[in-house]
Amino acid sequence: MAQTLKLWIAGKPVEAKSGRSAEVFNPATGEVVRQVPLAGKADVDAAVAAAKAAFPAWRDTTPLRRARILTRFRELMERHREELTQLASEEHGKTLEDAAGSVQRGIEVIEFASGVPHLLKGEQAEDVGRGVDCHSILQPVGVCAGITPFNFPVMVPLWMFPVAIACGNTFVLKPSERVPSCSLRMAELFKEAGLPDGVFNVVPGDKTAVDALLHHPDVGAVSFVGSTPVAKYIYETGARNGKRVQALGGAKNHAVVMPDADMEFTADALVGAAYGSAGERCMAISTVVAVGEAGDQLLPLLKERAARIKVGAGNVAGVEMGPVITAAQRDRIVSLIDSGVAQGAELVLDGRGLKPAGLDKGFFVGPTLFDQVRPEMDIYREEIFGPALIVLRADSYEAALRLVNANPYGNGTAIFTGSGHWARRFQHEIEVGMIGINVPIPVPMAFFSFGGWKASLFGDLHMHGMEGVYFYTRTKVVTSRWPAPAERMANGLVMPTLG
Ligand code: NAD
Repeated sequence: MAQTLKLWIAGKPVEAKSGRSAEVFNPATGEVVRQVPLAGKADVDAAVAAAKAAFPAWRDTTPLRRARILTRFRELMERHREELTQLASEEHGKTLEDAAGSVQRGIEVIEFASGVPHLLKGEQAEDVGRGVDCHSILQPVGVCAGITPFNFPVMVPLWMFPVAIACGNTFVLKPSERVPSCSLRMAELFKEAGLPDGVFNVVPGDKTAVDALLHHPDVGAVSFVGSTPVAKYIYETGARNGKRVQALGGAKNHAVVMPDADMEFTADALVGAAYGSAGERCMAISTVVAVGEAGDQLLPLLKERAARIKVGAGNVAGVEMGPVITAAQRDRIVSLIDSGVAQGAELVLDGRGLKPAGLDKGFFVGPTLFDQVRPEMDIYREEIFGPALIVLRADSYEAALRLVNANPYGNGTAIFTGSGHWARRFQHEIEVGMIGINVPIPVPMAFFSFGGWKASLFGDLHMHGMEGVYFYTRTKVVTSRWPAPAERMANGLVMPTLG
């Protein structure tokens, strides 16, 4: 009998009023492991009301005291690292080792947010005019909402709520309905760390819950991570309702491989970046642009390594790649592979039909590799979000650059080269938010900000790092003068020009 989850509102588990629920699968076995409630409008209203009620006291809790609760939360997260890793792997399918890495990267955002007394310091200038000083203050927005995707059950929620809460906001998280358990568990741990009830609320759900958040008059800011069509919808709808929005979308991340790259090193890096987490990372390298003779050298090395990847259940020792998230996603990937063959790409390694022993009902696709892909093919145009790597050929660095810059997405990219010249030009000329130089998955550390360009981000500010702090705060600028006794203003009817 699958466990039935609840919502988390005002510091306790709550039954959903909506009466709706969904199945949560273990994608390796295809079995239902839990039932998750799908929050309705009344449930979202209750969560926002709890967050709104908790806001005044939390805002007035000093940043230092907030930071201490975050530090205790980080300690509890470390103590429960194993349990969260297991949960993430079970509901997502990724290997335990990979899940553990993503839990660690999430914990590092809590670590960053624990420095909030320092991060909230504004700017100050003496004598902006004669006898006039100026300083700025960063104050919280109010109730913030987060909407997260399935592919990082721990890390992506942690990009948002620790920073928002550290800044003095209260938060309602709508995690992916496919991987709800980690968010609910983190809410329990945050309470155990001393977080007052109502500051952090979790409402698993689908579009109904998202729409309720986007239209709620008491939600001041919305953070979203997910696919591009939904990101655009969230941005437009949130903005129309007067909210500040940051909406991170999908990706098609290219690696440009120059002929002077160390090909063995590059092949190792690309295989990890393409097939790790079954390609279900927004920073996965899904596309290689091989320049000149790089392609002929690289292809056999990629094929040999990809063919050796051990596929199975993520919790089994030695397994390197797990299943994809749902049967529907498996079928979508397979039909994209079919289209690649039909449209004339060269299928070097075929992952269709792979069934690891004893996992007949699991949602598996094996590592797949295409060569001779052209930009008009569907496998280039679509974000596959699965274990399929495609290789395009380019005659020159300039042709490779044009190709990457013409792509509508701009999340991450990498160049593999032995030359500082190409690397330096690439970082300057490429229109992408996060760039690796001989680094395949350049996910910025928590104290830098994470975000793409173009169709990979709708909004102005990236997540965590200082951009996260600016997203979750409003700036006040105070100009002050302390006149001497009997001092008089000059003509007050004239626009003041200080100085
Ligand atoms: P998704 O867009 O289907 O879902 C994301 C969230 O939006 C979920 O919480 C979901 O319940 C909700 N949602 C889904 N459809 C909706 C709709 N029509 N209206 C309102 N809300 C809706 O994405 P996913 O399949 O969970 O995640 C994979 C996608 O996320 C990929 O495109 C991947 O590239 C992207 N992603 C991007 C980043 C990034 O940082 N840019 C990071 C991780 C994942």
